[in-house]
Amino acid sequence: MKATPPSEVHVVGGGLAGSEAAHQIAAAGVPVVLHEMRPVRLTEAHKTDGLAELVCSNSFRSDDWENNAVGLLHEEMRRAGSLIMAAGDAHKLPAGSALAVDRDAFSVEVTARLTANPLVTIARHELTGLPPYDWENVIIATGPLTSPALSTALANLTGEDSLAFFDAIAPVIHRDSIDTSIAWFQSRYDKAGPAGTGADYLNCPMSKTEYETFVEALLAGEKTSFKEWEASTPYFDGCLPIEVMAERGRDTLRFGPMKPVGLDNPRTGRWPHAVVQLRQDNALGTLWNIVGFQTKLKHAEQVRIFRTIPGLENAEFARLGGLHRNTYINSPKLLDGRLRLKAMPRLRFAGQITGVEGYIESAAIGLLAGRFAAADALGLAAESPPQTTALGALINHITSGHITSNDEGRSAPRSFQPMNINYGLLPDLAAQLTHDKNGQRLKGPERGREKKREMSRRALADLSSWLAAGTSPIMERSA
Ligand SMILES: Cc1cc2nc3c(=O)[nH]c(=O)nc-3n(C[C@H](O)[C@H](O)[C@H](O)COP(=O)(O)OP(=O)(O)OC[C@H]3O[C@@H](n4cnc5c(N)ncnc54)[C@H](O)[C@@H]3O)c2cc1C
Repeated sequence: MKATPPSEVHVVGGGLAGSEAAHQIAAAGVPVVLHEMRPVRLTEAHKTDGLAELVCSNSFRSDDWENNAVGLLHEEMRRAGSLIMAAGDAHKLPAGSALAVDRDAFSVEVTARLTANPLVTIARHELTGLPPYDWENVIIATGPLTSPALSTALANLTGEDSLAFFDAIAPVIHRDSIDTSIAWFQSRYDKAGPAGTGADYLNCPMSKTEYETFVEALLAGEKTSFKEWEASTPYFDGCLPIEVMAERGRDTLRFGPMKPVGLDNPRTGRWPHAVVQLRQDNALGTLWNIVGFQTKLKHAEQVRIFRTIPGLENAEFARLGGLHRNTYINSPKLLDGRLRLKAMPRLRFAGQITGVEGYIESAAIGLLAGRFAAADALGLAAESPPQTTALGALINHITSGHITSNDEGRSAPRSFQPMNINYGLLPDLAAQLTHDKNGQRLKGPERGREKKREMSRRALADLSSWLAAGTSPIMERSA
């Protein structure tokens, strides 16, 4: 008897995530229809009809898998047969340790490889509402500039609060780089709140002079400007950039996010003049965000100015602040561990719309969504990669690793903000590193570097086991 062929998967959006997802699905032997609205309709940033168009920089960032988390993600994706990485490698340009690509040749290569694949059909049209009911296995990968008609349909489906049109990112700092001999743990007036202990925040105190110098630096700091089409998008719902607050008056921040009331500095026994508060950002407790510090300051300026905050002199930033036009869903609330919408499991999400940030992170979630969708079509189980891998850490962060809470510790959808891959999303090593491979005692920064290398080695070993375990549809079919 002839086996029934697997039913097709529909992927909406032929960007970084959708192209990678379509490739992974076809590689598993499952037919796929890739729906892309360009050139019928363009976004404000795309200029061509090519698949996987890079809308801004032509860099995939660091390619150093041993020392950099995005380099590690590159390497894991290569090992998982990524089309985006193969096309990037084929069209790389000289850029030191970064992987920069010839954007046109890269997009042409992705388009040509998908067009030539007999299992892939490319349909050029805009999806203007929810996918039709006879599409049983769908991936929505329409990106940060999802067309308005589809955005409206998604907002109606998920609830207004669960779809954001702007991100308002406050910087996130590695916990082990915060100086707790200066910063102290305390919630305002020691209030525990529903999920807290009464000591849920790290507080960095400022004297009057320190505060005034800080405000001056914010005012003088170099800022990035909104793009013309971003400026008209309404977003000011309680998320003003700190430098805009500073412009409104010298004390505005002191009555806003830097309010010191109810916070007793254990070193002085008094409330400081102003306070910068940090709140735990991920369940692992390795990352902490600066509360209310969304900003349009340039990245180098953020590092320079925020390191003047007492307790943050040696801060290592996992993410810097920003404000952008960005359509994304509240994934920790809406998605299950296989990227399916809990309320409508025939719909999966992938790419920037899930709340990851960056070309490679978007493609990585496309890779996983494609594998999960192919496994469903084939009736196979699909395990997520372990959290010790960059792929596993990223999906874990968007589906369950992020802590969703507002200033009072209550659940708040807007506290989930887009995230790049970084080592803080991976669980710490089981044991502290004290010596290197050659038995030499590790000191200071070298210990940090060796820790990253060890986490990278662990990630690739665990990825191999995942790929070999047969829980990925591609490996299972070729075995
Ligand atoms: C202006 C801007 C600049 C950015 N610059 C960078 C950068 O320099 N580096 C970086 O790493 N990241 C950058 N990003 C963030 C992000 O990495 C990219 O947007 C990335 O392309 C996201 O990949 P994606 O696949 O999720 O979405 P996209 O690559 O945008 O793909 C989504 C696709 O869906 C299509 N689509 C949308 N709606 C519909 C619909 N209703 N029906 C059918 N098709 C639809 C779009 O035409 C598009 O082709 C930038 C984002 C923006 C908005």
